[in-house]
Amino acid sequence: MSKGNGMMRALKCRECGRQYPLEALHVCDFDFGPLEVVYDYERIQGVMTRDLIVSRPQTMWRYRELLPVVDDPTVGFEVGFTPLIKADRLAERLGVRELWVKNDTVNYPSLSFKDRVVSVALSRSRELGFDTVACASTGNLANSVAANAAAAGLKAYVFIPADLEQGKVLNSLVYQPQVIGIQGHYDQVNRLCAEIAGKYGWAFVNVNMRPYYAEGSKSMGFEIVEQLGWRVPQHTVIPMASGSLLTKIHKSYRELSDLGLVEASGWRIHGAQAGGCSPISQAQKAGLDFFKPVKPETIAKSLAIGTPADGFYALRVMKDTGGAADDVTDDEIREGIKLLAECEGIFAETAGGVTVGVAKKLIASGKISAEDSAVLCVTGHGLKTLDAVQGCVGKAREIKPSLREFESALTGDGQLTR
Ligand SMILES: *Cc1c(COP(=O)(O)O)cnc(C)c1O
Repeated sequence: MSKGNGMMRALKCRECGRQYPLEALHVCDFDFGPLEVVYDYERIQGVMTRDLIVSRPQTMWRYRELLPVVDDPTVGFEVGFTPLIKADRLAERLGVRELWVKNDTVNYPSLSFKDRVVSVALSRSRELGFDTVACASTGNLANSVAANAAAAGLKAYVFIPADLEQGKVLNSLVYQPQVIGIQGHYDQVNRLCAEIAGKYGWAFVNVNMRPYYAEGSKSMGFEIVEQLGWRVPQHTVIPMASGSLLTKIHKSYRELSDLGLVEASGWRIHGAQAGGCSPISQAQKAGLDFFKPVKPETIAKSLAIGTPADGFYALRVMKDTGGAADDVTDDEIREGIKLLAECEGIFAETAGGVTVGVAKKLIASGKISAEDSAVLCVTGHGLKTLDAVQGCVGKAREIKPSLREFESALTGDGQLTR
């Protein structure tokens, strides 16, 4: 167990402001509002400089003063600092001046942005003395908890909807945690996990550890700013499941600008969902500040949360920054995956197809001006959702092993005959 609170001050209810000790707690006893970590920004301002950040290893932990751990992280110290790619070919196809892809498909170790939140949650769980960790997951979180818990020697229970993609299920099983497939959708998994978390003394990364877990997402925003040469992008397009990542990227920009580490400038935060599970984007498009829960039906299973825990706050961030949301069909998701692969050589999972598809719509409608610069957050690897593109990327042209066969299969313009 660690002593002191590091740069953290307390947990605080986002609704009523009541403060709580820095333990495994996530809701306010009085109004059930979500708890959030409060930092000692004055102390942070005294120590955190660009020079200090740049002098540290290229991982998400170079921003450690703004992450909720007291001591050195003990889980996932290689996570983060994924490439920010200048996507000129995609920019041209989508009709915008400048485009960047924050490529978390290659995050370490489990190939999604979830490694960020999990390394924070598991490091903090250890500080609080837990030896067993758990999660309610739409797939990637389970993969990351399973991998990081294995590497750290923690016991792990991962709860997933039973009908997830095979790739996602296997990517949890291989690390040999306890994998529980629930016959129901994510929102039912989550409800069950809330009950289990109350009864067993485990660190549920996205239930009782959620205030710490969620802060890990900020590292994606810190990296974007640093990799752009200490500049906040004009537009950021972010996929939404619970809406947490979106709110935390906004928070990361605000923290860096409040601390004077980056020039304060206007930025717009945009949200992306799949049409088959779009409670937040439907509300945003209707101009509402609350959402109606839905029953998910989409190939973007990693985003299939019908009752998004941070939906309300995500709507507020988009409103406050002048951002927008939109959603895309399953076919548009597949097209988005192919477009990103063809233009930039990046194979994303369905959530990446959602982000690219929605960015295309926001540019076409002028919500992202053709003169502007935008960052797309691409959050998970395509090898985990092969089922989604199976049958829509063509197939190999088969020939006998002879030069004559090859040459007769070739057309004049270098393409293969069908
Ligand atoms: C979990 C996840 C998200 C977003 O999750 P939030 O709950 O909104 O923070 C985005 N993309 C992928 C691939 C994910 O696994």
